[in-house]
Amino acid sequence: MAEDDQAQAAPSQDAPPQDEPPVLFLHNVERRYRQGEATLEILNGAELAVWPGQSVALVGPSGAGKSTLLHVAGAAEAKNRAIEILVYLGLKERLAHRPAELSGGEQQRVAIARAVANAPRLLLADEPTGNLDAHTADHVFTALTQLVRASGLATLVATHNMAIASRMDRRVTIREGKVVELE
Ligand code: ADP
Repeated sequence: MAEDDQAQAAPSQDAPPQDEPPVLFLHNVERRYRQGEATLEILNGAELAVWPGQSVALVGPSGAGKSTLLHVAGAAEAKNRAIEILVYLGLKERLAHRPAELSGGEQQRVAIARAVANAPRLLLADEPTGNLDAHTADHVFTALTQLVRASGLATLVATHNMAIASRMDRRVTIREGKVVELE
């Protein structure tokens, strides 16, 4: 049947699109917290790539490091996005310059870069349904999923809710400071 053929030919949702770079690329991330004399190693060589349009659930017990990873992802994503756009606009040699050190044309290009950089490609959410009853959580998550699908946004969502996690493209967790892919 044509339908079956099509289904078999369709790439797995987990397979990254080969022609686009990831919207999030975390490489060898380290995060430690001091607690008195002790040092907590929360992230220790963590790696994670998320491709355009992908939805990824970040699951795991409280204290595993989910919020820490989301914070790193937000900072990594914002900086990389800014650099990517500035390089695209021909400002590679001006990345470390102050505004006063730029020509009028260069300042205009930075203004364009700033506007474009504000259009996010990755939605980060930390327990977006954490305080909601199951029915409301389902509604909120459905709305979030529809927005993500319609806009082509990628999303990384920390959640304890396995029903929600199971509806996303991928599930990852943090073990011994590393991001581990779940089935
Ligand atoms: P999760 O989101 O999975 O619950 P977190 O990333 O919030 O985990 O925290 C991971 C661990 O790091 C926890 O043990 C937490 O107590 C500790 N931690 C988080 N932030 C700090 C901080 N600013 N100072 C010290 N310890 C912290």
